[in-house]
This record gives sequence, structure tokens and C-alpha cells, in this order.
Amino acid sequence: MFVHEMPATRVVFAPGARHQLSGELAALGLSRVVLIGGAPPLGAVVEEIVEALGETVGARIQDVVEHVPVERAGQAARITRAVRADGLVSVGGGSATGLAKIVALRTGLPLVAVPTTYAGSEMTDIWGTTERGVKSTGRDPRVRPSTVVYDPELTVGVPPALTAASGLNALAHCVEAVYDTQASPIIHLLAVRGAHALASALPRAVSMGDDLTARGETLFGAWLAGTALGVARMGAHHRLCHILGGAFGMPHAETHAAVLPHVVAFNEPAATAALEAVATAMGASHDPAGAIWDLCRRLGTPPDLRSLGLSRGQALEVASRLAAHPGPNPRPVTEDDAREIVLAAFDGGRPELRKRIG
Ligand code: NAD
Repeated sequence: MFVHEMPATRVVFAPGARHQLSGELAALGLSRVVLIGGAPPLGAVVEEIVEALGETVGARIQDVVEHVPVERAGQAARITRAVRADGLVSVGGGSATGLAKIVALRTGLPLVAVPTTYAGSEMTDIWGTTERGVKSTGRDPRVRPSTVVYDPELTVGVPPALTAASGLNALAHCVEAVYDTQASPIIHLLAVRGAHALASALPRAVSMGDDLTARGETLFGAWLAGTALGVARMGAHHRLCHILGGAFGMPHAETHAAVLPHVVAFNEPAATAALEAVATAMGASHDPAGAIWDLCRRLGTPPDLRSLGLSRGQALEVASRLAAHPGPNPRPVTEDDAREIVLAAFDGGRPELRKRIG
């Protein structure tokens, strides 16, 4: 049994699609927007967008940081109200989209997103803020962008390390969507196709950043990944990354890359068929955790949480927090399990192929 409901977001996807932004705003009847994001290194691109939009831009908020601290969210909402904006435009990675989503939540204004990384937030109704070291997330239809403008040309300048990590963040969306037992077959298809696009195009996007075909295929994978996450539920993997990001300031995409193979190794016995579909999509016949770990090594993402600055004591604290709220994971997560997962990600190393349980 499944229930399928796919909320509508208009998607414009093409090299050069940013030039259609003004028409997209007009189609929504927007005449005074707040533009969120676009700090260097996106400066030149955003200046071009601002010039094209002219007087439609009522204010700009460039200063965005990861995990949306509540104070920044409040300040951005105040600016938006002060200029009597009728809409929001975000240009940037998940942090710019994330701040714009919170402003959308607080003001009720429509959001048009122009993503420049592979985070996928633009396709979800998930918002997140951080207050005193705790990251809270929630779902609300008001934060889902009305329109998303995907322009692979905007991703050509993403440095190799961020390209790799952000692509792995997208792959994590595919993984958690594919084994969500309540997700419909359509979500399964999106997640598997997304994993295929990401695994096949990311190595080229990393090694030849100006290969527009590889950039386009990777962004396509990120779109599918975000679409799948936008409907599916998040399990222990995303939960763990949110704890690491909110409480310990760990960098979002890199943390996903370091953690993913180890959560997949843990979940594989309970979600064998779903994860085998991911492995096959990635060009491996079995062992999804090993296939993801190998891709991470090929792309050069941080190999473990230790190298990202986490201490062993912090890892144990993270494990307790994970065990307390592991999310709707395909396999129950006990205290011992949580410790095993987190310490595996802390130490790194290729995950062992596990035996099926039950
Ligand atoms: P980010 O937005 O913080 O960007 C990382 C860095 O890359 C920044 O310095 C940014 O200026 C730079 N950058 C962005 N685009 C660039 C480009 N085209 N060229 C060169 N540099 C560029 O990182 P992210 O990984 O995209 O997003 C992480 C945030 O997104 C986290 O807060 C995470 O929680 C959130 N997120 C939310 C969802 C959701 O559904 N709500 C999904 C995924 C991620």
C-alpha cells in the first residue's frame, strides 16, 4: 500500500536559465522582491541578475551562514517587511535557500529559488534553524519554492571539494528516500535515477569543473534527489548530520559525505533490495555502502568525522543524541547501534559488507 502526493513546483532547467528569472517573477505577479544570497564568490553572477531584475529588487541580503541562526532569520524577515516585498528570490547554495525559506515561513511570501549547489533544499518543504547549538527542522508547505530556476552554468565555479561533498549530500537524499517504507514507487524511481546521475556525472564535474554536460547531469541528479527528499521521510542519516551540524558546527555537505557509507552499511541488512537498487544505479552489482565509500574516495571527500574536527568525546555525545531520536529509520537504532555508526564514521575506513538480519 502507498499514498502518493506530489506538490507542484514549477521547474525551469537549462544552461542560461537565469536569464528567464525576470519572466518567472512576472508570471507570479511579483514586482518587489528581496534577493537573498549571492555573496562572493557568487558576486559577479548575482550582479548580473540584479541588473536584469532592475527595480524589482527591493532589498538584498547577502550575508548568509549555514544552518540559519534564528537571529539572522529574524533580521531578514524584518528587512523583508520593511521594504514591503511581495516575494523572495534566493541565489546560492542550501544556506541561501534555507534563510529564504524561513523568511517565507514568517512572512507568507512566495519564494523563487536559483540554486547554485547540489544541496536540493529548493525542492523540499523542509526548513531548519539553529538556536543555542540545537538545529530544529520542520516541514511546512509555505517554505516550498513556487518556482525553481536551475542553471548549470551557475555551478561551473563550484570548487572541486564542494562539488564532491554537495553531490554526496544529494546522494544521501536519494538513499534515505529509497528506503523510506512509506514512499511511493515514483519516489523510488526518482531516487534511483538521481543516484545514477550523481554517481556517473560527479567524477567529471569534480575533475573538469567547466564540463557543462557533467554539471548539467549532476544538477539534474540533485533536482531528482531534492524532489525525492521533498516527499520522503528522513531517517538516521539526516538526523545524525543535523545533530553534527547544529550542535558541533560541522560543515553540512562534508559531514554527509563522511557519514553516508556507514549509515548505509548499518541499514543495508534491513533495506537490502532498496539499497541494492542504489548500488546498481551507481554501477556496482552489490555492496551499496562499499560503492558509496569508493565513490567518496574517488571524489576526495573528507574520509571521517575526526578529520572534520570532531573529538571522540563529542562523537559519543552525538551517538547518545542519535539513539534518543533516530527518526523513521528502516532499522531500529539502539544506543549500541548509534555508537557503532558514529564511531565508524569517526574513524573512517571501508565499511564491511554485512549479513542480512532476521
Ligand atoms: P552553502 O549554501 O553553505 O554553500 C557553501 C559555500 O559554497 C558557501 O561559501 C557559498 O558561498 C559557496 N557557493 C555556493 N554556490 C557556489 C557556486 N556556484 N560557486 C562557488 N561557490 C559557491 O552549502 P550547501 O551545502 O549548498 O547547503 C548547506 C545548507 O543547506 C545547510 O544548512 C543544510 O542544512 C541546508 N540544506 C537544507 C535542505 C532542506 O531540504 N531544507 C536540504 C539540503 C541542505
